[in-house]
Amino acid sequence: MKNNLLRVNLINLRDFGKGNYRQLDDYAFGSGGMVFAAPQLKAALDYANLESKNIKPFVVYPSPQGVLINQELIESLAHQEHVIIFCGHYEGLDERFVEKYVNLEVSIGDCVLTGGELPAMIMIDSMSRLVPGVVGKTQAVIEDSFYRGMLDNPNYTRPFEWEGLRVPEVLLSGNDKQVSHWRRREAVKRTLTRRPDLISRASIRDYLADKVRVLIIAHDENIELESLGALCEAYELSRSYVLAKSHELREKIKNLYPEAKVLGSLDKILSEDNLLIVKIFSGSKNNSLHSLEVKRRCLEHEGSILFIFAQDESELESEALEGVSSYLYESEINNVSLNILIGTALDRFLGKR
Ligand code: SAM
Repeated sequence: MKNNLLRVNLINLRDFGKGNYRQLDDYAFGSGGMVFAAPQLKAALDYANLESKNIKPFVVYPSPQGVLINQELIESLAHQEHVIIFCGHYEGLDERFVEKYVNLEVSIGDCVLTGGELPAMIMIDSMSRLVPGVVGKTQAVIEDSFYRGMLDNPNYTRPFEWEGLRVPEVLLSGNDKQVSHWRRREAVKRTLTRRPDLISRASIRDYLADKVRVLIIAHDENIELESLGALCEAYELSRSYVLAKSHELREKIKNLYPEAKVLGSLDKILSEDNLLIVKIFSGSKNNSLHSLEVKRRCLEHEGSILFIFAQDESELESEALEGVSSYLYESEINNVSLNILIGTALDRFLGKR
């Protein structure tokens, strides 16, 4: 706040109370508890709105009945220019005020507190960490738990040995590549064992080995390799290949796309050690895995990953691809162009969440 990176104004609801006692609350119809009355809340909101000038404020009510707070929610709140937080007490706020003026009810967890002040402080603190300049090292924020939807790796400091426990040797090696590999793997292990529920919305691209590739089995030359190239770039895929079985088709594709890496057989690509193959179908298959399970296995896998798509999906069931450790993922979208299928599948596994 001193450096003008953010501003927090505290508004005392009591200033908007009615009568000599500056009354804010009244008996709840039906239950008898105390509830903050809507007109006083509205007067306080109008006052807070003066701060907003032309910006529409985003009104939050911390409430045990709200959506559970998480990092994505905090990130979206931190993008708002002006957030107004109404802290409840007793039974809370009159529901009509909530209906008319609250944009979001947020809960800090399945427990009941006496008031909304601590949840408000939790929100302010976690939002402010995302304002550039508040935390010294931006990278530190990115690597914290939940930023990419994953947990952080464990951390150690001196002394090297304490009560018989040593700091993992790799952290002292001075080898940056090995250290970052160790950190990624530890983060993956922790997330998979402690919070597997996070995987569905985690951005996992940074946690996968360097070699994630795409192979398309071509049936004819009508494949739009330019947009596929853009997709591969967006997801930092090290390489994409096209498999064309006939010499004639290979030549046609090479003429259309001189840059394409066109293969005549799968032998070389499949001979790689520790290769995880994900076959993508657009229709239904009995033995397919749920995409979440595929995502989990990709994350668990330490070697290369190859996503295979085919213009003619029967090719995915060919003999050459039998017996390889493969997982099927079926897109729920039928009858879409190959590039849309590739785009949606890659987004599901590798996209930012
Ligand atoms: N009658 C309310 C209910 O059961 O939903 C509980 C009211 S609580 C005693 C009083 C105030 O504390 C709430 O209005 C809210 O602002 C705050 N509060 C309590 N628990 C909370 C939680 N888990 N998350 C966010 N705010 C909470």
